[in-house]
Amino acid sequence: MSKITSITGRILYNSRGNKTIEVDVKADKNFLGRVCAPSGASVGKHEAVSFPNGKPEEGLRILKENANKFLNLDPSDLKSVHESLRSIDPTENYSIIGGALAFAVTIAAMESASMALGEPLFKTLSKEEEYRFPFPLGNILGGGSHAGPGTPDIQEILICALGSKTIREAIETNFAVHQELRSVLEKTYPDFTYGRGDEGGWAPKLTNEKALELSAKACENLGFSLGDEVSLGVDFASSTQWNEQKNRYVYDRGGFENSPEEQIEFASNIIKKYKLIYAEDAVHEEAFEDMAELSAKFPKTLIAGDDLIVTNKKILKKAINAKSCNAAILKVNQAGSLFDALEFAKEANDNNIKLITSHRSGESTDSHISHIGIATKSKMLKVGVVGGERVAKLNELIRLSEHDLIRGMAEI
Ligand code: PEP
Ligand code: MG
Repeated sequence: MSKITSITGRILYNSRGNKTIEVDVKADKNFLGRVCAPSGASVGKHEAVSFPNGKPEEGLRILKENANKFLNLDPSDLKSVHESLRSIDPTENYSIIGGALAFAVTIAAMESASMALGEPLFKTLSKEEEYRFPFPLGNILGGGSHAGPGTPDIQEILICALGSKTIREAIETNFAVHQELRSVLEKTYPDFTYGRGDEGGWAPKLTNEKALELSAKACENLGFSLGDEVSLGVDFASSTQWNEQKNRYVYDRGGFENSPEEQIEFASNIIKKYKLIYAEDAVHEEAFEDMAELSAKFPKTLIAGDDLIVTNKKILKKAINAKSCNAAILKVNQAGSLFDALEFAKEANDNNIKLITSHRSGESTDSHISHIGIATKSKMLKVGVVGGERVAKLNELIRLSEHDLIRGMAEI
């Protein structure tokens, strides 16, 4: 059995240039697990807080003061590592230590264990006879909280190459659509600056409708039919538009408002017109019944909860009871620790809820989530298309395709 022999941390920076925390866990003085925590911009009300009092330094101080609580634990014993964290912070939302620290400590422990065992991380995370690749789901055009004024209110238009037979083909197809969309945008708007949002999707000054139309055109220009070789997805991130006082969705950039009923209609029209395979947070984070209406209407589309479920097992149970979703985003740092996230994944898989493991808009160049997506039997891996911190995750999938245990693409 391996033992944790040291645990240290440092302040680093994420892809937005904001401070974050990185943790090093060493097993048997030799085997390093190193994890740098990401953070979101469109954050769910009920997710784990990133840092105590918003301060990464505070998380680091707590780690230093409590390092001895992790020493001599078996790094592959995720429950014990998690319980040591919980002895410092029993709060639901990790307000004492921050979800970023819980994320980094638990994943780094498992990575050091995988190094000591001489096996890839996905295998240490879950023992299966065989594994599958999730389909990469990537942001090709962004707006909302991820891009500036004039861009669409909708946060993300996404591409997924569901017709691909291999992981390399799926990734290359996403690159091709992202590139073709740039050509379409510059032909349509000669003053397009090639500006991109936080996750690498193009960020042009366009309405929601035009953004969707041109994204579809990029696919068609490459000879693809929507719903066949490739499909579009949308993260509506509707909590950004939701105004509780008004009881309406306010689309500032588009210049219109939707009642809750109109919002369902708005999302339904987009799902139908663009044959979406994926629709995330089409209504706000507390609208479980409205989500259920969409799920009943579109059983073939992945109706996914992100801000709605926040990788929280209790909230997932509520969504399952209300039949709100047939799919759920898994973001480890929303849950807090990897132990929480894997419990969440089990609940989802046991109830036929399709998982989509996801990056955050503020990312590191780590690629652990590629392994987490495989180990949790995720159907898709939402990690963007371009940008070094996004491509890092895709490149890791290609490295993993050299592994015999992964037998082809997920079945959606
Ligand atoms: C999202 O909303 O799905 C997302 C990845 O953005 P963020 O990390 O800003 O929550
Ligand atoms: Mg989202």
